[in-house]
Amino acid sequence: MLSQERLSGSHECERAWVEVDLGALAENTQQIKGWLAPETTLMAVVKADAYGHGAITVAQTVLKHGASSLGVATIPEGIELRKAGIDAPILVLGAVTMPAQVRAIADWHLQPTLSSVKQALVFSNYAENLEAPLDVHLMIDTGMARLGCPAEEGFQFIDFVRRVPKLRIVGLYSHFAAADAPNPQLMYQQHHCFETILREVQRANIAIPQLHLANSAATLRDRSVHYDQVRVGLALYGLYPAPHLRDIVPLRPVLQVRSRITLTKELRPGMGVSYGHQFVARRSMRIGVLGIGYADGVPRLLSNRMEVLLRGQRVRQVGAITMDQMMIDVSDFQDLQEGEVVTLLGEDGQEQITADTWAETLGTISWEILCGFKNRLPRIPVDQGFYNQPY
Ligand SMILES: *Cc1c(COP(=O)(O)O)cnc(C)c1O
Repeated sequence: MLSQERLSGSHECERAWVEVDLGALAENTQQIKGWLAPETTLMAVVKADAYGHGAITVAQTVLKHGASSLGVATIPEGIELRKAGIDAPILVLGAVTMPAQVRAIADWHLQPTLSSVKQALVFSNYAENLEAPLDVHLMIDTGMARLGCPAEEGFQFIDFVRRVPKLRIVGLYSHFAAADAPNPQLMYQQHHCFETILREVQRANIAIPQLHLANSAATLRDRSVHYDQVRVGLALYGLYPAPHLRDIVPLRPVLQVRSRITLTKELRPGMGVSYGHQFVARRSMRIGVLGIGYADGVPRLLSNRMEVLLRGQRVRQVGAITMDQMMIDVSDFQDLQEGEVVTLLGEDGQEQITADTWAETLGTISWEILCGFKNRLPRIPVDQGFYNQPY
């Protein structure tokens, strides 16, 4: 149960916030690193502001507890980490094609993903005048049809780039399209395709220090696809890519979303709640207004379909979720205080609600729920459990 204190001067946690449990993040990192062979390194994928958890704090924590490098999607994401003083290798997983981007890659010591000869030429033009070579990762498309050189041209591509003077191939990788599917057929098909290219690379005596293929699902699923490094996002944040991948490594959700009750009121039978009166009281009841809404990242489609935790108990949400507020049924809590903290995602007492629950209700995936929380919610680092900011 959350203990409730009163009154403080900080504006940070007046209405709603995201707690980032750094203790859980550290443990998840250690657990995942412990699951790998000792020589396999862990790249922590911290794109999209570390899946909504806050990239800088997350990067600092995972690097301290077993990760050796970072993966981001864009150059600005990489620069943000460099500006915070992080000097670990950073791979940009997204496409980098324009000359101005190449300069940023070089200036900030980021590692790009190359998918084509054309892209390699843009880099080679720029790198010509550099003193030190640029470190690059080459990507092969083994069945995702996103970035990466088509597998049939994979070897020629690698063989081309290795002859470009100022480019140094430090990594070769591919990405799985369905490593979380109960049926692993597609995953092993892609693995086989990757292996075929690796054999050609070996035959040509091309040494590439880092081969990597596995995301969270593949990392949990099969050590034989780990190679030199795994690229783990979701699992670090304490969620499982699929139900059948639970119980392999113990993980705890890192992100918790909490909000305060800002007002309570009585409803008479027949009174409607919120826009469109999508909920109508059948009996006398009491509702609480929460200071969080869809502009904070609580999907409006959860209206009347979600629960929150109050004093360790499940309470239903009622009426349309609005931009900044939503209502909950607090009829069972007669002594309720305004300012009390409600948990939307996370633990309270014995109860827990995870992003998986929301994802299931909405027919989406937990990845999307996590990165849906907006910057308007302050990210509060906590060590264990919930943040107990006085009200
Ligand atoms: C996002 C991403 C990952 C991490 O995926 P998770 O399923 O969150 O572990 C790994 N590799 C690439 C190329 C990615 O884009």
